Amino acid sequence: MSSKKSKKNKIQLVKGMKDILPDDQPYWDFIKEKADAISQAYGFKRIDTPILEFSNLFKRTVGEESDIVSKEMYSFVTQGGDKLSLRPENTASVARAYIEHGMVNLPQPVKLFYFGPQFRHDNPQAGRYRQFWQFGCEVFGESDPVIDAQLIGISYNLIKDLGLEAEIHVNSIGDNQCRPQYIKVLKKYYQDNKKELCKDCLKRLGKNPLRLLDCKNKKCQEISQGAPQILDHLCEPCKEHFMAVVEYLDEMNINYVLNPAIVRGLDYYSRTAWEIFISQSDKPEGKLSALGGGGRYDYLVEDLGGRPTPAVGFALGVERIILAMAENKVEVPRKKEIDVYVAQLGQEARKKSLFLFEQLRKEELLLWENFSKKGLKDQLDIADKKGAKFTLILGQKEISDGTIIIRDMESGVQEVVDFNKIKSEIKKRLAAHAAKQIKLKKPVQ
Ligand code: AMP
Repeated sequence: MSSKKSKKNKIQLVKGMKDILPDDQPYWDFIKEKADAISQAYGFKRIDTPILEFSNLFKRTVGEESDIVSKEMYSFVTQGGDKLSLRPENTASVARAYIEHGMVNLPQPVKLFYFGPQFRHDNPQAGRYRQFWQFGCEVFGESDPVIDAQLIGISYNLIKDLGLEAEIHVNSIGDNQCRPQYIKVLKKYYQDNKKELCKDCLKRLGKNPLRLLDCKNKKCQEISQGAPQILDHLCEPCKEHFMAVVEYLDEMNINYVLNPAIVRGLDYYSRTAWEIFISQSDKPEGKLSALGGGGRYDYLVEDLGGRPTPAVGFALGVERIILAMAENKVEVPRKKEIDVYVAQLGQEARKKSLFLFEQLRKEELLLWENFSKKGLKDQLDIADKKGAKFTLILGQKEISDGTIIIRDMESGVQEVVDFNKIKSEIKKRLAAHAAKQIKLKKPVQ
């Protein structure tokens, strides 16, 4: 076969997708564990929505003109004629579920969190994939600014719990009362500077002028420096709301900056908007990429046909966090110590070991085995490398006697015990081992 042909026949990873290999898993476990812990501590309950939704859900909420919907959705028509999309984000789905399951009738606010994959057909590059995972928290049924601050605090503190220094960039994008007026002023400003704008911004000017503020083009950024700022155009209630959020952030000792360029790309946001970055002191300027973002979305539930329900939430990108952890050399717990290694010698012993292993697994012990290995020395070497506390050895003689050998891996001492008592014997020794470890760790008085 020619090499060209063989290359064509080789099936590879789809562009923009990523395998999460065994070596990467400790990062994922660590982040999941910390995300679960912080969301549960603040009273959030987990929700998992399907990956597939009707395309209209995102068109109506995220917005037809947003990059996500206009360029990046994986959409298709099913055999039955349904127009579906892989979810590009999770907030709209969670809001749909809130309405569909009558959660409006529960005591408010309803606090939900999720941890799952999202899909965007964007240009892949470092830290940007077509399938990526987000952890997010959403609060429905509360308009008080203290909740905005609490959510900012959760996103900030989680990043800190993961060993990174975070910085919050916060803004308010007003509401339906004050934003239309601001957009008029903003449009006029950019119209006057039209000649210098990039092609994308010229398009955005007609459809989504707020997005010009967060264009990454250098020239556009320079023009945006002089743009009218929304904070000067907020109506009184929005101003009060934002001032309260910022006061709470001060109270919580959160490291934040007011950043008028934080507008978030999606139609459904109102009032508070924020993004979370690695602290600038840890990163050369210009290389900032967001670990996550959030905001208030007081109109979303109503837009989806539900009762008017104020809401606010955030999403953090798991792959981005892992990249930042790796860049900042954050260590995660990797090795779980093995309690017991099950070693066997001979065909009969191997059969009985299979049974024994299953019995011990049910006791929730951390086990290891290599049933395909024949030599005892090999097996003991592996037990040693794995850091097993004890090895159980079953050979022909033990089978005939109805016994089993327990080897203490630290001292090398071996004892023969009754096979039928192995569960209690091994648990007794593991408890003694744990007690010894605690004693050893006690500081000298
Ligand atoms: P967004 O919903 O666009 O505000 O995204 C929230 C967070 O998800 C971002 O700050 C990123 O950390 C992460 N994220 C968004 N898009 C991608 C992507 N294509 N690949 C990896 N992470 C992403």
